[in-house]
Amino acid sequence: MNQIADVLVIAEQIQTDLQSISLELLGAARQLAGKLGVGVQAIIMGHNIGDIPQTLIHSGADEVFVVDQPELAEYTTLTYRRALITVLESLPRTPHIILCGATTIGRDLAPRIAAYFKTGMTADCTELDIGDYEHKSKVDPSKIGIYHNCLYSIRPSFGESLKARIIGPWRNPQMATARSGAMEPIQPDTSRSGNIVPVKVNFQETDFRVKVIETIRDVASNVDLTKAKVIISGGFGLGGPEGFDIVRDLASVFKDSAVGSSRRGVNAGWISYSHQVGQTGKTVRPELYIALGISGAIQHRVGMGKSKTIIAINKDESAPIFQYAHYGIVGDLFVVVPLLKEQFKKALASAGRG
Ligand SMILES: Cc1cc2nc3c(=O)[nH]c(=O)nc-3n(C[C@H](O)[C@H](O)[C@H](O)COP(=O)(O)OP(=O)(O)OC[C@H]3O[C@@H](n4cnc5c(N)ncnc54)[C@H](O)[C@@H]3O)c2cc1C
Repeated sequence: MNQIADVLVIAEQIQTDLQSISLELLGAARQLAGKLGVGVQAIIMGHNIGDIPQTLIHSGADEVFVVDQPELAEYTTLTYRRALITVLESLPRTPHIILCGATTIGRDLAPRIAAYFKTGMTADCTELDIGDYEHKSKVDPSKIGIYHNCLYSIRPSFGESLKARIIGPWRNPQMATARSGAMEPIQPDTSRSGNIVPVKVNFQETDFRVKVIETIRDVASNVDLTKAKVIISGGFGLGGPEGFDIVRDLASVFKDSAVGSSRRGVNAGWISYSHQVGQTGKTVRPELYIALGISGAIQHRVGMGKSKTIIAINKDESAPIFQYAHYGIVGDLFVVVPLLKEQFKKALASAGRG
């Protein structure tokens, strides 16, 4: 048996819809597990979750623990915590690493699991890796030494100007949450096989201290920026909520497109938060990202800087976005966008993609 335990992913579904972060985490887990020479486990909780466990296996899990009970139909902190701890306690070995999404649910659940195991956790990672670490600090002499196979949790810090590598090898599980869109899923393979292990949870009365009376889905939050191939984003340069009409108009030219926004656009109340790209919004990496009237602050860049092609339109030639856009147009967006739209339409039509 390998001395190192497996890497475990806490998968996430909302109303039986598997969240893409779960597949991204499995992609990252496969890479980490490959370096450690161990397997990948996943946990999925919910009610009537159908073939989600199979999808997790096709997407990289070797073993999936499933808690499928009516008490888990809606997310509440205490019921999901109970289910998760029941599964983790049933494992013959505590996982070496646990990964969770930096989503609303993940941000609620992961610290509770870390607290339960009295272990460390790094939030909002954008990269994960494995490596060694030599601890020399004399503050706690019992910790001095070389630690192997540590989880390197890498995340932007100090206003995103530095990348911090955070290590906590003293206790397992070593835990991290990862931002949506930051990790790469693997290509699903329907021939992959693995174990699906149902787990029964005995809830306690105290787990139901919070009751969900009604769930109202915000239609606008269905914007799936992380899946769109083309994102047209608008910023404060749009001048008002009606400025987003031109953004939507340009987006309508492309298939698989979505409308994004800078935080200033969202803060001004011009568009809902679900459209926000950046440090406190979504992390995206589309084929094409067009930024209209966005200055390109570092907090915006961390959310879209990995896009394959970035086009920026800004009337200020010294706007920071021109330092990292692949193509820049200096000009008034209200003049440039209609011209650009016609050019894109022609190009897409001649490529048979109009
Ligand atoms: C902790 C923290 C977290 C943050 N998180 C995020 C985040 O997740 N996402 C995010 O985006 N920001 C975030 N921010 C805010 C960020 O620092 C910037 O303030 C914000 O991105 C600026 O938005 P903007 O580019 O739309 O506005 P501005 O910086 O005001 O830029 C507007 C741009 O529009 C141009 N412009 C004006 N009129 C026109 C026109 N007619 N045609 C062409 N160009 C025009 C201007 O030249 C200017 O460059 C965060 C900040 C902090 C402190």
